[in-house]
Amino acid sequence: MRFDILSIFPEMLNPLINYGIIGRAIERGQIEINLVNIRDFSEGPHLMTDDRPFGGGHGMVMKPEPIFRALESIPRVKGDTKVILLTPQGQLFNQSIARRLSKFEQIILVCGRYEGVDERVRSRYVDVEISIGDYILTGGELPAMIIVEAVSRLIPGVLGGARSNLEESFEDYLLEYPQYTRPRVFQGEVVPPVLLSGDHGKIRLWRRTQSIKRTLERRPDLLEKAHLSKMDKSILKELKQEQVKLSALSNQELGPG
Ligand code: SAM
Repeated sequence: MRFDILSIFPEMLNPLINYGIIGRAIERGQIEINLVNIRDFSEGPHLMTDDRPFGGGHGMVMKPEPIFRALESIPRVKGDTKVILLTPQGQLFNQSIARRLSKFEQIILVCGRYEGVDERVRSRYVDVEISIGDYILTGGELPAMIIVEAVSRLIPGVLGGARSNLEESFEDYLLEYPQYTRPRVFQGEVVPPVLLSGDHGKIRLWRRTQSIKRTLERRPDLLEKAHLSKMDKSILKELKQEQVKLSALSNQELGPG
């Protein structure tokens, strides 16, 4: 899979390329990352990439010509390509979008700066607009890194083991169960005995129950989309009954509000 990232600060992406799982995936040839400096495609004595907005108002807008030229310079690989604009106005990025993107052969990411890009970049070239959250950053470089990272680790072989990401949070719309490592006792807190039992059936059940419990407590909205078996549903029913009992108890302690 190939990522082309267009930015006026491409060196910001060096940490992504040089470290960890992404660095290794590049070395192994599992992914390719091509950084494109938009400034290399600007013209005129000052190599301007931005200008004042028509109609007035504060800030600057990224000019269309250098971005058009940069996009046209990128060789398109055979197969499916998507051009993504990073913008707080796009659809909210999540694991299911990451999974869908991981099926493409090439992803081209356009990082905005200032007040964003000229609207004609959107209308002419962009297939998908993505936001990484309901807040405003100064540029699209961090969002691009997040997308490359989340998508790359879903590409078969990048993580090493074929199944190593299937149990992570958001796969199946459930949060991951609690994880423990050595030592068995740390500052008085012990590892749940079931994890030391060697009984893989019991361990699977405990983890599934914890996963459902965590999701119920922290992100009940996900449960509507989760793929729950008959057994999962009965676990969920019990957990909900427990929750009702606990909230009745705490109401007793506090007394009527
Ligand atoms: N004026 C724009 C608006 O109100 O929609 C915001 C521009 S922002 C300061 C500059 C650039 O940062 C954007 O063009 C975009 O590429 C990137 N950016 C900022 N926040 C983002 C977010 N939540 N998700 C994705 N990209 C973001």
